[in-house]
Amino acid sequence: MTQFKHDCPACTFLGSIVDRNERLCDLYVCVDDHDPDGTSFIARYSDEGSDYISTSLIMVGRKLPDPLAIAFTLAEGRGLLS
Ligand SMILES: [Zn+2]
Repeated sequence: MTQFKHDCPACTFLGSIVDRNERLCDLYVCVDDHDPDGTSFIARYSDEGSDYISTSLIMVGRKLPDPLAIAFTLAEGRGLLS
């Protein structure tokens, strides 16, 4: 069950967590079927359209902000990145 409104139909909800700043967020992966590097990870913090952070798969392996690293792990664990 998501905590916040998110209007991207391509996103898969991964779960809600409290990040290291003790902010509740919803984690998503947005899989790009045409360009795997375009797949992105999103942490949404409120219903406000712009209140989220995201990064693309190509950035994984560099230092990801905490909630997005968790989103990556969850998406990988569900086999969504293959
Ligand atoms: Zn999306």
